[in-house]
Amino acid sequence: MAATPAAAVNALRSDFAQLIDGELVGGAPALEVINPSTGQVFARVPRATRADLDRAVAAARRSAAGWSATSFDGRRAHIRRMAEALRAQQLPLAELLTHEQGKPLAQARDEIARAASQAEGMAAIDIRTEVLVDDAQRHIELRYVPLGVVGIITPWNAPINLAAGPLTMALYTGNSAVLKPSPYTPLTTLKFGELLRELFPPGVVNILAGGDDCGQWMSEHPGIDKISFTGSIATGKKVMASAAGTLKRVTLELGGNDAAIVLDDVDPKAVAPKLFFAAFVNSGQVCMAVKRIYAHERIYDALCEALAAEASSARIGDGMLADTQFGPLQNRMQYERVLGLLEDSKRRGGRILAGGGVPSQPGYFIAPTLIADLPDDSRLVQEEQFGPLVPVLKFRDVDDAVRRANDTRYGLAGSVWGTDLARATTVAARLEVGTAWVNQHRATAANVPFGGAKESGIGRNYAELGLKGNMEPRVISVLRA
Ligand code: NAD
Repeated sequence: MAATPAAAVNALRSDFAQLIDGELVGGAPALEVINPSTGQVFARVPRATRADLDRAVAAARRSAAGWSATSFDGRRAHIRRMAEALRAQQLPLAELLTHEQGKPLAQARDEIARAASQAEGMAAIDIRTEVLVDDAQRHIELRYVPLGVVGIITPWNAPINLAAGPLTMALYTGNSAVLKPSPYTPLTTLKFGELLRELFPPGVVNILAGGDDCGQWMSEHPGIDKISFTGSIATGKKVMASAAGTLKRVTLELGGNDAAIVLDDVDPKAVAPKLFFAAFVNSGQVCMAVKRIYAHERIYDALCEALAAEASSARIGDGMLADTQFGPLQNRMQYERVLGLLEDSKRRGGRILAGGGVPSQPGYFIAPTLIADLPDDSRLVQEEQFGPLVPVLKFRDVDDAVRRANDTRYGLAGSVWGTDLARATTVAARLEVGTAWVNQHRATAANVPFGGAKESGIGRNYAELGLKGNMEPRVISVLRA
């Protein structure tokens, strides 16, 4: 299935344009995109100016009136066509995604397929007017109306999934949208924009290739009614501060430091492959990856051994090569940050169970690394690593494990692993998170809301809650007599 290795693609690509008011707008190629498997620039794209943003917002506002007047059924048909277009272009989009993001091609294909099925799943949900009172005197109902223009800002770890989800929520609920991907990974999103141009009326969807400055302009812009942001906690706080000037609505999907608590009644060999994949998929660059493993002392050594065996057989490399399971870190900044966490973990007495090395090849590669015996106050336990470096910590008492899992400002998700389901579920319900899983991690669906507690976010994406986050509740109250 895999084609040419990314390292063999030498030609510098510049066939990318922004989508503004139904037109593909070129402009001077000012942003450089690096292939993380080689560390080399392989594409250049335009960089959105403030004037580009103003044009996109004006077009979105102009088109909002007509688009919001269409029916849910009409908009559902558009979303379905969007999903079909993603499927039809799955392979070329996935190859581009692997080149700019680094993930293995099969996982890039999955990301495109998942974006399509999530979109269809959300567009199958009905948003109904709720009748609150209906008696001889009064009729009161609660309607949900579109907000207007939604600004969408996305990160670099899953650019298409995290674009298609918020875009579907905004458009299906009758808003128009202006979307800006991460400057590290704008390419697949711009190609997605070319597909969207054929499917939606001009101005309803606008895609800009902007830097961090463009994200700030969007958050401040008086013509944008809501920001749907996915990214780090630090940037999420900046978005909220910038949005305060116009009291924009915000949905913030931010970082996590998910704990997996492994109880004493599991078979370590059986859970290790699942835990390993949940921690290291996309080389750990997943908001809801397992980022801390707490294992009961009775199974601790056996679990460490089984996890280390998984890490030792993991194949890392260029995502375009057929046997690659784990790609590089997406950018140099993140690569250096993870190496810094590795050095700090060694200084703090961490015992390297597997990995710990940097392969001698170009690109931002770090071998999947598991570290035992770290103190709770070490950086790797306290901070979101967003990379292939995971601590395995020991506990004796379940209450202590729950306390340590909750002793953080993060609150995205978490999981509990055990054979006694009732007991594991009781422990899971005590996690201070948006999603607590039992015997699984990273399981999401279009009809299940997802988002963070504490500093991991505000609001929810997906499902009815996510859709309503793109709408204003409006009460219509009629006095009959
Ligand atoms: P980031 O916060 O650095 O950047 C995200 C986006 O914000 C980019 O498009 C960037 O250009 C833009 N941006 C930067 N400065 C801005 C500003 N001042 N105002 C507005 N926008 C600005 O995040 P990242 O490094 O691209 O992504 C990794 C982070 O995203 C991790 O913390 C990860 O956990 C989180 N994430 C969360 C979820 C979730 O659903 N909760 C999903 C994926 C990733």
